[in-house]
Amino acid sequence: MTIHGPVFSAMLQEFDGAARLLNLESGIWKILTHPKRQITVSCPVLMDNGEIEVFTGYRVQYNITLGPAKGGIRYHPDVTLDEVTALAAWMTWKCAVAHIPFGGGKGGIICDPTRMSRRELEALTRRYVAEIIDAIGPEKDVPAPDVNTNDQVMAWIMDTYSMHVGHTETAVVTGKPLELGGSLGRKEATGRGVMIATREAATHLGFDIKGARIAIQGFGNVGSMSARLLQEAGATIVAITDWKGGVYNASGLDLAALSEYVRQHNTVAGFPQAEALTNDQLFALEVDVLVPAALENQITMENAPSIRAKVIVEGANGPTRPDAHMHLHERGIMVVPDILANSGGVTTSYFEWVQNRYGYFWTEQEVNDRLEHKMCEAFNAVLKTATKFNVDLRTAAYMVAIDRVAAVTRVRGMYA
Ligand code: NAD
Repeated sequence: MTIHGPVFSAMLQEFDGAARLLNLESGIWKILTHPKRQITVSCPVLMDNGEIEVFTGYRVQYNITLGPAKGGIRYHPDVTLDEVTALAAWMTWKCAVAHIPFGGGKGGIICDPTRMSRRELEALTRRYVAEIIDAIGPEKDVPAPDVNTNDQVMAWIMDTYSMHVGHTETAVVTGKPLELGGSLGRKEATGRGVMIATREAATHLGFDIKGARIAIQGFGNVGSMSARLLQEAGATIVAITDWKGGVYNASGLDLAALSEYVRQHNTVAGFPQAEALTNDQLFALEVDVLVPAALENQITMENAPSIRAKVIVEGANGPTRPDAHMHLHERGIMVVPDILANSGGVTTSYFEWVQNRYGYFWTEQEVNDRLEHKMCEAFNAVLKTATKFNVDLRTAAYMVAIDRVAAVTRVRGMYA
């Protein structure tokens, strides 16, 4: 199985650098750079206008050495097998860095959910699940929400799977509604992980999170939760941008008022108690911490030279271009990489799966305490490797991940 797409190639580039430093033997190298399984399915759906449409869906299980595949399902017109495979590989490394017993998977359907009715989306979801049903399950592959999918889509997946196996099976999917076996703390989990990673990075660099000045790109799930929790930890959030514009207040934004404004206007732009600012102005602010929490490829060689933050904490997946990352590293700006910084989400998905299989649910405090422990453990493992090999945190995170998956691959041996 050979993959030649640009997104998978980008993943391979990051992998190769870390694997070389680990002196990874060529056999394991080959195994870890090939997806275990790629599934392509056609999903016919009777649309509301009476016509039948056929949608293409993918599920990729990149590596299941550490446990069941784990990763979201996205609904988007631009979904490709190349992208889904790369995302499944990144999930493999993210789960390994987080030190949770999951492999990496990802799914996607080529569709435009903004042009589909709720009934059409439900029909598409159920047919997709029916098409991949033999490949998923609590011990095999556990999907989750991703771009344009949410807890309702997860509920449909759980119900369809349960109907097929003949009993209620909550652990087949995470990110479910609370009443269906979702976990307390899941909604805040990625933001909480970003807050913990920021706090640990600040401590390492010798400044206190209390009083630190922070700018955040994106005010969706990750951006808004990170902002709230960082503020609760004592930081001052001075700037936030979103799809339509941005806001800046040198003495700190009133997040409660801003959230209420966003609820009414669907954007932070125009919030009265602040000045307007653009993404480029946000990146150039003299702050302690910059949190890109919106989209991929936002920090480029166009704007990286103007960045003055001491540390960048990647809430989003892939927000920094490789050349910009190199530039920041050379200037001594620390970048806490996505596979570490935003792993709080998948770690809490793991907690949801554990609670479902246990049939016993934890309090929100228990979830948060366990996340705190896992995030600190992951951060310290990456920092230790970075120090030992004198490399940046992204390379170190890959090294930790690859080393863990390679070690288990060696012990399990070759079945042939
Ligand atoms: P979301 O859709 O809830 O929020 C995205 C935010 O980005 C919105 O506020 C949107 O207005 C803003 N945005 C869009 N275009 C922008 C632009 N050009 N400039 C500035 N802001 C812009 O998404 P999310 O769940 O918060 O995810 C954000 C990122 O974090 C994605 O890369 C996602 O893959 C990653 N991530 C999310 C989770 C999670 O648990 N939700 C976990 C891990 C990683």
